[in-house]
Amino acid sequence: MPRIVLLGPPGVGKGTQAKVLAQHLHVPHLSTGDLLRESVRAKSSLGEEADVYMRAGRLVPDDLVLRILRERLGRADAATGYILDGYPRNVAQANELDRIAPIDRVLSFDLPESALVVRLTQRWTCPKCGTAYNLATRPPKVPGACDLDGTTLVQRADDAPAAVRTRLAVYREQTEPLLEHYRRLGRLTPIDARGTPEQVAQRLRTALEGRS
Ligand code: ADP
Repeated sequence: MPRIVLLGPPGVGKGTQAKVLAQHLHVPHLSTGDLLRESVRAKSSLGEEADVYMRAGRLVPDDLVLRILRERLGRADAATGYILDGYPRNVAQANELDRIAPIDRVLSFDLPESALVVRLTQRWTCPKCGTAYNLATRPPKVPGACDLDGTTLVQRADDAPAAVRTRLAVYREQTEPLLEHYRRLGRLTPIDARGTPEQVAQRLRTALEGRS
């Protein structure tokens, strides 16, 4: 049962790769960012609380994220495995995950910071299905519309420059220490995230096959 965590800084391409990998392995893609954005759109009380943190580029409090994650992990399609994208993001979340749903592998994506900023500020996202486009490297076929469902693309509020700086700083301070945590447990596989989405997907498959 593949239970895989994708780790890496904002803008590294985790979400794009998670979708491809989930299809390849026939398991769901669980993105805490997508789940939180859904609650914001649905205007639930959890969503309204989370929105303030997300717009600023800060982490949403652990208890809120955990509530949403537990609910998602409990759904039937997650019983045969999943690709977890965006969780854990700090040591407390990693410990919580070990308690509720131990994972098999952690794939960590690396990319120089200058490339991250370019990917984030040129990113347009489909608000319906979450597919990410990049005006420079992966433009939609019809300008401004999602290739998959035609929905008008939007820029995420937290891709504004000030929030991008905060997200990168939060990643370095709170999430990066997890690399060492998983390296010590022998579960970490680093992936070079430079190049096109297809090149990265190929490296990912090679890394997974190498150990299976
Ligand atoms: P990115 O990795 O590109 O920043 P995500 O979609 O994964 O984008 O997350 C967007 C925002 O959602 C984060 O900046 C944070 O506010 C919130 N978030 C997502 N996952 C978590 C988490 N596990 N813990 C706390 N906040 C989270």
